[in-house]
Amino acid sequence: MSTIFKQIIDKKIETNLIYEDKLCLAFNDKNPIAPIHILIVPKKEIPTINDLTEEDKNLIGHLIFTAKNIAKEKNIEETGYRLFFNCNEDGGQTIFHIHLHLVGGKKL
Ligand code: AMP
Repeated sequence: MSTIFKQIIDKKIETNLIYEDKLCLAFNDKNPIAPIHILIVPKKEIPTINDLTEEDKNLIGHLIFTAKNIAKEKNIEETGYRLFFNCNEDGGQTIFHIHLHLVGGKKL
C-alpha cells in the first residue's frame, strides 16, 4: 500500500506543487504549524531516516539545498526557519516516506 506522498509523486492525488525536479518535489503541508510549512519529498521511496544507505547521501544533501532555495524564494532566509525530519513513533513521524519539513514565517 503506497503512502499518500507516493500518490502525490505519481500524480494520483492533486496537490499545489511549489517545486519539482528529477529527484524531489515540494508542496505545502496540509496542517501547517507556521505561516510557511513546506514539505520537501524525495521521489525515491525511503520509509524512514533509518533506511538511508550510502547511496542516498547526495539525495539528502539535495533536499536540504532545495529547502534553502525555497526559503530564499519565500523571503524567510534572513528571518530564519527550521528544517527537520521526524523519525518513527517517538519522533512523531506519521507518513513513512521521508520528508524534510521547512517551517518559518514566525518566531518558533
Ligand atoms: P510527519 O509527522 O513528519 O510524518 O509529517 C507528516 C506531515 O504531512 C504532517 O505535517 C501532515 O500535516 C502532512 N500531510 C499529511 N497528508 C498531507 C497531504 N495530503 N498534503 C500535504 N501535507 C500532508
